[in-house]
Amino acid sequence: MIHQGQCPKCGKRVLHVHVESVLGMIANESKARCLSYSCIHCFAVLGVQIDPRGKRRAKTADKAVAKDDKPAK
Ligand SMILES: [Zn+2]
Repeated sequence: MIHQGQCPKCGKRVLHVHVESVLGMIANESKARCLSYSCIHCFAVLGVQIDPRGKRRAKTADKAVAKDDKPAK
């Protein structure tokens, strides 16, 4: 496999990236866990995405599921 991706800042091939956990800000509040990918040579940020491993908030839908677990009389 030939790696052809180049860092847009330093021009080196992107064979590795630094992965950092960062917080996404929504209306000046940190609300989302995100992942930042940066060049290992010059630290230019190549991309940021929502962390798919981020914890979900407890939803009221969970209670609705528990209700169904009660034995029917
Ligand atoms: Zn770079």
